[in-house]
Amino acid sequence: MNTAPPRTVCILGGGTAGWMTANLIHRRWAEHGTKISLIESSAIGIIGVGEGSTPQLKAFFDDLGISESEWMPRCNATYKAGIEFAGWSDRPGYERYFHPFPTFVDHFTQSKFFYAAHARRAGRNVPAHPDPFFVPTRIAREGRAPVAPPNFPFLVSYGYHFDAHLIGACLRDFGTARGIDHIDAKIASIELDDQGNVKALVAEDGRRFEADFFVDASGFRAAIIEGALKEPHRPFGENLFNDRAVVTPTPRPESGVQACTQSIAKSAGWIWNIPLTNRIGNGYVYSSRYIDPDDAAAELRVHLGLGEDAEVRHLQMKCGRIDRSWVKNCLAVGLAQGFLEPLEATALHIVLATVGSFLDAWDKGERDQFNAAISRRYEGIRDYLVCHYRTAQRKDTDYWRDATTNNNLSDSLKGVINSWFRAQNLEEEVNSQDIAGYYSPISWHCMLAGYGNFPPPDLLKPPGPDITPLDMAEVERFVSGCAMNFPPLEEALERLKEAA
Ligand SMILES: Cc1cc2nc3c(=O)[nH]c(=O)nc-3n(C[C@H](O)[C@H](O)[C@H](O)COP(=O)(O)OP(=O)(O)OC[C@H]3O[C@@H](n4cnc5c(N)ncnc54)[C@H](O)[C@@H]3O)c2cc1C
Repeated sequence: MNTAPPRTVCILGGGTAGWMTANLIHRRWAEHGTKISLIESSAIGIIGVGEGSTPQLKAFFDDLGISESEWMPRCNATYKAGIEFAGWSDRPGYERYFHPFPTFVDHFTQSKFFYAAHARRAGRNVPAHPDPFFVPTRIAREGRAPVAPPNFPFLVSYGYHFDAHLIGACLRDFGTARGIDHIDAKIASIELDDQGNVKALVAEDGRRFEADFFVDASGFRAAIIEGALKEPHRPFGENLFNDRAVVTPTPRPESGVQACTQSIAKSAGWIWNIPLTNRIGNGYVYSSRYIDPDDAAAELRVHLGLGEDAEVRHLQMKCGRIDRSWVKNCLAVGLAQGFLEPLEATALHIVLATVGSFLDAWDKGERDQFNAAISRRYEGIRDYLVCHYRTAQRKDTDYWRDATTNNNLSDSLKGVINSWFRAQNLEEEVNSQDIAGYYSPISWHCMLAGYGNFPPPDLLKPPGPDITPLDMAEVERFVSGCAMNFPPLEEALERLKEAA
């Protein structure tokens, strides 16, 4: 069992993953005397995309004692109450839906929504679109910020949008101010000892960097974990088709920005729209099996109303995960560890979960348990993403016809989908499979109901005496009354700037 932290830790990679890890390890181990260094190559740079988060990013900054006014204005950051999905279903009334970050206040309405969705799945004509039931949805739609005022009795979970380059620089400054050693060097080779542990990273200019423990945060290169330690990579291409993205920013409109990411389904994938304080980030995530890069760029430009010459940037995505994240004396994080396409913006969330569990597992000497738990997390999140495509309601292109009939599904996902379509208790299914920690029953219900995965309207029967009538006016009063407490988004962002 490892009780003493390593004396020296060397992190390869200064992207968001590397700097998050450096700060977290410093917070836990610096008081034990651990010295941390981070090596990155300014010649290589960082990937520079990844602008949406889950609520775990708030916990990260809170734990490090960094306030929103310290980091958000520096990173052109805005608040995010969830994700709006548009164009994923052609069922009338279900053309768009909102996936809110589940939050404490939702307890008051979730059982009503689950009941309604269950009755409709069982063929009863009751309203079961998720949007009217949830406070974060209303907050975003009304142009408010999900930041609870002091007199509001419940916390509301939220995430952020931010500039990927600026957040990296911000985390670097926090880290170096706390004593993390920052080195600019391009690593050319990696030395292993006779036990197969990493001994040193050797730079092109001959400098050698030894450490007791290494972190591979070298991005898709995975220089240590795959390059030197030869850990196998398991691709997810069989059930997640998207392998490329094309991105371009557009100016921020004067008004009308909401505290949410938009995800708009397109001919061979989907386009994100992420509002920052100074611009909108846009990207088309697509499958190169179904559309070539030039056509994808053209589709993105048309969607954004840009001219044919508007500049875009093309990216390749390596979707999958390495077999084990902690091998010998090396932990892989970020893109070096794995990547699930950005539909639910989970990459940084996985970095935080990985480093937090790693530090706990180190104390207990539980490397195998840690590796198994991280693999389950990847697969749990993957299944939720796969379900987005498998149960979407559009079949207008080969991409969508193949995605909605893809039968490469895990047993876990088959269980969830069967439970939904057989009108069983989905909440019980998710809880009994122990997968609610990846996506809660609210998230599963919102997606499946949001696409309109119900019997066709002409087959629905009136509710009947066995169905408890749903008082939608009461739901509306509760949701709109709660939302009224929250400030306009622009006002909340302005306040942060003033406090900075
Ligand atoms: C299209 C797309 C959209 C995304 N959207 C989201 C999102 O909305 N939300 C989210 O959470 N995530 C998203 N991600 C993922 C996100 O971009 C990454 O998880 C995040 O940026 C962290 O990347 P990283 O630090 O692992 O790698 P990188 O940013 O690539 O950093 C790698 C680092 O390693 C260094 N390096 C590599 N090789 C060497 C070497 N030989 N010597 C020295 N240094 C070296 C580089 O210089 C760099 O500093 C998205 C990814 C893609 C591709």
